[in-house]
Amino acid sequence: MAQDFYELLGVARDASPDDIKKAYRKLARELHPDKNPGNKEAEEKFKQVSRAYEVLRDQESRERYDRFGEAGMSGAGGGDPFAGGFGDIIDAFFGGGSPFGGRSGPGGPPRGQDLEVVLDVSFVDAVFGSQQEVSVRTAVACDDCSGSGAARGTAPTTCSECRGTGQVRRVRQSMLGQMVTTSACPRCGGVGEMIASPCATCRGEGRTIKEVSLTVEVPAGIDTGQTLRLTGRGAVGPRGGGAGDLYVHLRVAAHDRWRREEDDLVTDVPVSIVQAALGTEFDLETLDGVEHLVVPAGVQHGHEFTLRGRGVPRLTSAGRSRGRGNLRARVLVEVPTKLSGEERDLLRRFAELRGEEVTSEGLVAKIKSAFS
Ligand code: ZN
Repeated sequence: MAQDFYELLGVARDASPDDIKKAYRKLARELHPDKNPGNKEAEEKFKQVSRAYEVLRDQESRERYDRFGEAGMSGAGGGDPFAGGFGDIIDAFFGGGSPFGGRSGPGGPPRGQDLEVVLDVSFVDAVFGSQQEVSVRTAVACDDCSGSGAARGTAPTTCSECRGTGQVRRVRQSMLGQMVTTSACPRCGGVGEMIASPCATCRGEGRTIKEVSLTVEVPAGIDTGQTLRLTGRGAVGPRGGGAGDLYVHLRVAAHDRWRREEDDLVTDVPVSIVQAALGTEFDLETLDGVEHLVVPAGVQHGHEFTLRGRGVPRLTSAGRSRGRGNLRARVLVEVPTKLSGEERDLLRRFAELRGEEVTSEGLVAKIKSAFS
């Protein structure tokens, strides 16, 4: 079972980077395999502690861990499409502001949680972009009290202790002189308001849990492992607190004909040995329509025809597309496996003309009968 990284290191969640480093060094000295030869338990613990430190030592990965737990960390599990972590985050666009937005700021009610969902999209939708519906279980402002948490017909009153600021200042003497510290008001919990009769629907929370459906604008060129951030579409905070963000992790389905290699689209063009030798032409279906392709005589297996700018839109981190990759049609020379007698004779004649040695007919028949 995964253990909390802070617990592993024996530090508080708000420990300073220095404290984390000190705690790690102390544990690492105690648990080091050189000091505990043959002690499997110590070895395992040493590994866990090292992993915890790897994550918590870096400010960015620590924040990610705080937000998503170990699931959000890179290398958390093999084969996981998000094993790369949340490095590739793209800000998504919306029309209008967040419907769940509310007051937020220093001293106000706390902001709501960030949420995350996985969204499956088809290959073509990912290449061209699309609108997708996502359903998410989230906290929304309570309808009955409009998020205030106060019963119908009543209103919250200003907290008498902090006078509505949500913060209290304390002055204390220290070695360095007078120190002023501010902290959340203990009476109202930092909200700045008191509720005499709480709303019955949300029990004064100001929010309820609901299944919400959202339309997400998936930008063209998105790929598996990329994440869209929808600012202000996460859960709302209690009693009118602002909303967190919603992270949408993309998972793009495979296509039976097209593959992606970075921003290039790659497809196979099967041709026979005769078509490869003599040349051919055909209609190639691209994602933008049909393209006429001329295959010159003598084309080799693996040869690529490149159609510039007909690949996948290049997506910038700002969620915009800038240019497109190429389309590459790769020639696959296919050797025929079922030959009629006449076809075989013709190929034999061809081999004779070129002085190529081929298996004699009698031998082929013998091998065939041996396997039948
Ligand atoms: Zn309510």
